[in-house]
Amino acid sequence: MATDNDLLSRSRAAVWHPCTQMKQLEAAPPLAIARGEGAWLVDVDGRRYLDAISSWWVNLFGHCNPRINAAIVDQLGKIEHVMLAGATHEPVVELSERLAKLTGLGHAFYGSDGASATEIALKMSAHFWRNAGQPEKNGFISLQNGYHGETVGALSVTDIPLFKSTYAPLLRHSVQVPTPDARLAEAGETAEAWALRCASVLEAHLAEHADETAAFIVEPLVQGAAGMAMYHPVYLTRARELCDQYGVHLIADEIAVGFGRTGTMFACEQAAVRPDFICLSKGITGGYLPLSAVLTTDAVYAAFYGDATARGFLHSHSYTGNPLACRAALATLDIFEADQVIAANRSKSQEFTGLLAEVSAHSRVRHFRQRGMIWAFDVADAGPGFATRFHRMALTHGVFIRPIGNTVYVMPPYVTSAGEMRGLADAMLGCLDHPEV
Ligand SMILES: *Cc1c(COP(=O)(O)O)cnc(C)c1O
Repeated sequence: MATDNDLLSRSRAAVWHPCTQMKQLEAAPPLAIARGEGAWLVDVDGRRYLDAISSWWVNLFGHCNPRINAAIVDQLGKIEHVMLAGATHEPVVELSERLAKLTGLGHAFYGSDGASATEIALKMSAHFWRNAGQPEKNGFISLQNGYHGETVGALSVTDIPLFKSTYAPLLRHSVQVPTPDARLAEAGETAEAWALRCASVLEAHLAEHADETAAFIVEPLVQGAAGMAMYHPVYLTRARELCDQYGVHLIADEIAVGFGRTGTMFACEQAAVRPDFICLSKGITGGYLPLSAVLTTDAVYAAFYGDATARGFLHSHSYTGNPLACRAALATLDIFEADQVIAANRSKSQEFTGLLAEVSAHSRVRHFRQRGMIWAFDVADAGPGFATRFHRMALTHGVFIRPIGNTVYVMPPYVTSAGEMRGLADAMLGCLDHPEV
């Protein structure tokens, strides 16, 4: 325990933790993690916690995955990093080729975090219209309750008041259109009908404002930070048609939903939609290293190609295309292929949904929902502080899970077994039944 407390007080003193009111860490200290093993986190005292949310949605194939470890170690013996302006290397070229095959887009541009991918896509879109002689097309549309990251540009298209309001004076105006979140459908209205009704509001906006709009940015199928809000794919199909009709780019922010999370490699596939830009991060390296990528169409790329330097996309980050991160991503793609992960997850997600039957039928549970390897439900009588209480109680059951408001969600690594999922279901029932949660 001495080590544990020591590490926690040193962390409080030296580390400013993300998305945290530091004062609350006194009452609710962070876990002091020493190592990881598959779907499990192990703290400095040897206690084990099932990582039910994949360490903020990034981990796909478990902690300390031998295959990803081996790829990184191999790369370490070759070249750890070289700048990508004026130099190139095998891992970044191969990764770009493979991502192009998977997405149907190309010309991969790299950043290090999801938010920088959003920034890149927004800048590329506006710059495209400028190069096309329509510089007034520089506005952005996003969905209500959408989340695209928290740097100043990304935050301006994010619509989560808790993250956004404080910084409002720093942000550029953007327009939010109604979210097709199926929970908001009227009684008796299908998710599809509601999605189409929302799309008609998007259409009305585009009809008026397409001339000043560069792009519509959207989280396909699942709005993660909104509390795993799920919606009907027809919204994306309709958004694609409308963006084509009104000459506005469609940016698919697949940072959270990409790499199999919703049951297909990319969520857009379920609506048969090809966006103009796709933003990828989180699971791209299997949860190992910071890496993001934006891929786009040949038409967008062509608008930047020419003799004038300023027509080019003069954007960069120091670690753009880092070879170690690219190797982790290549090893991750290898696992998808070798283990036929998308097909395997199809039966796994059905089995897991079955294991959660008792949770979904619990008297406190509302709007139980599932898509691919994401499960979520709302808790009817949650009350203030519910998320923290549920989180703390789940830790006593050996589960690391962090509800968003009154929404509990499960987003486990794909290597999670049925036995582990059964344990997770029991832990959630234990929390829901506890009088203090
Ligand atoms: C997490 C997330 C981001 C931001 O990624 P960071 O790596 O945290 O900057 C952007 N968009 C979506 C949909 C996300 O879930």
